[in-house]
Amino acid sequence: RIISRYSTAAALEEPISPPVQVSYTQHLINGKFVDAASGKKFPVLDPRTGEAITHVAEGDAEDINRAVAAARKAFDEGPWPKMSAYERSRVLLRFADLVEKHSEELALLESWNTGKPYSQTSTSELPSFARLFHYYAGWADKIHGLTVPADGNYHVQTLHEPIGVAGQIIPWNFPLIMFAWKVGPALACGNTVVLKTAEQTPLTALYAGKLFQEAGLPPGVLNIVSGYGPTAGAPLASHVDVDKLAFTGSTETGKVVLELAARSNLKPVTLELGGKSPFIVCEDADVDKAVELAHFALFFNQGQCCCAGSRTYVHERVYDEFTEKAKARALRRVVGDPFKKGVEQGPQIDSEQFQKVLRYIRSGIESNATLECGGDRLGSRGYFIQPTVFSNVQEDMLIAQDEIFGPVQTILKFKDIDEVIRRANNTSYGLAAGVFTKNVDTANTFSRALKAGTVWVNCFDVFDAAIPFGGYKMSGIGREKGIYSLNNYLQVKAVVTPLKNPAWL
Ligand code: NAD
Repeated sequence: RIISRYSTAAALEEPISPPVQVSYTQHLINGKFVDAASGKKFPVLDPRTGEAITHVAEGDAEDINRAVAAARKAFDEGPWPKMSAYERSRVLLRFADLVEKHSEELALLESWNTGKPYSQTSTSELPSFARLFHYYAGWADKIHGLTVPADGNYHVQTLHEPIGVAGQIIPWNFPLIMFAWKVGPALACGNTVVLKTAEQTPLTALYAGKLFQEAGLPPGVLNIVSGYGPTAGAPLASHVDVDKLAFTGSTETGKVVLELAARSNLKPVTLELGGKSPFIVCEDADVDKAVELAHFALFFNQGQCCCAGSRTYVHERVYDEFTEKAKARALRRVVGDPFKKGVEQGPQIDSEQFQKVLRYIRSGIESNATLECGGDRLGSRGYFIQPTVFSNVQEDMLIAQDEIFGPVQTILKFKDIDEVIRRANNTSYGLAAGVFTKNVDTANTFSRALKAGTVWVNCFDVFDAAIPFGGYKMSGIGREKGIYSLNNYLQVKAVVTPLKNPAWL
């Protein structure tokens, strides 16, 4: 078995001190931080050690009921949906400015809770988080309906109205970014919100909740409940006073919440789910650049991205060179404490994900894919995994079909464009795809033929606030970000008035 040479196991055993103080651990309901109705708390773990950072309020159906009641009142009685759109925009702008002011604490907290390198949270995620709210603040006062040409006897206008109380359930892999993708458009459109954070990562959302209070958001407009899926997420998805549900997480849970939403009150649902996205390296590619981008596409965020380029298809003419270089790149990847300078990869989020990734690695070895490097944990504490590369991967292997959600690159060989398009599309997922080529015709062929919500050509993981994101097939329903995300949080009302009004004619 090949052990990679990046092992920094000794450094991983060093003593750890808290990088930042944790100030908010209760639910945010109706503008106040409150304990769980049951008084229960659950531990939030540091993925570097598996030890508790703190304990937070554990929400269940009663906390969800209280949060939904607060959101209902704030929507029905105002002032939020009735406030001028300009005022709403200013609250969102003030919040975004406060995020910038507190970005260091937020980045420290996000890295501590998730294990993401601090270099990533401080230079990428925090600026994006603020940017998303600046972006949605810009939309708040630009939402309007149309005048519709009817049959000549009627004046018809459409009103774009907020839907009401939005229930939102988010995962652990991008806690702040997922918060922004959900809360940003909901509030910009005048809705009120109950957000259920992932049980692994509740901390930064609560901090952001505090900043929203400081920004002047009225009580009850944004409520945040921490807790587990079946006990806090499910009561939110099935609540009859919730008018709209937005969910990001696994495809399996997506099906559960869709059913809960349908059976309770048929609330509309948007889903952002899993993926097994192809990254296709064509024969004309500059191999060094392709290796670097494919490496980033898979290993970014410890491989815990819904859109990870997790099937690396390489043309047979460049396959051997690519594989050799991909292995060398993975061996150079710096794994370690997320707060250490130069670290590119931290630990996986928790023991469950860590064990799952190791099981997939064993399955790759057992199915006779070639283990080029990695294949094991790093150190004896926390959830660090060696960057792992498999070559000679076949379509029917589990590692080529399932979402591994870890630092495991699988390299497959292809001969021609039609064949690789067929293979790339031969999955129940359709979230994203990457293509690396110098030929514009090839790029156009792929970008039209691939069944995916995003096709990145000669780039990957480009996530501007204005770019829509979402999945084909079982990767989801609907689009988040950009102009498209507003439709998720608006109702369209047609107001029809006769031009010759019978009331006084
Ligand atoms: P998950 O489905 O287990 O959990 C997601 C959220 O759903 C959590 O808040 C969880 O508490 C909640 N939940 C779990 N069971 C529930 C239930 N019965 N009822 C209501 N809520 C419930 O997913 P995860 O492991 O946290 O996240 C990883 C998955 O998320 C991956 O599959 C990944 O691809 C996907 N993901 C998708 C996107 C996207 O935009 N498409 C983004 C990030 C993550």
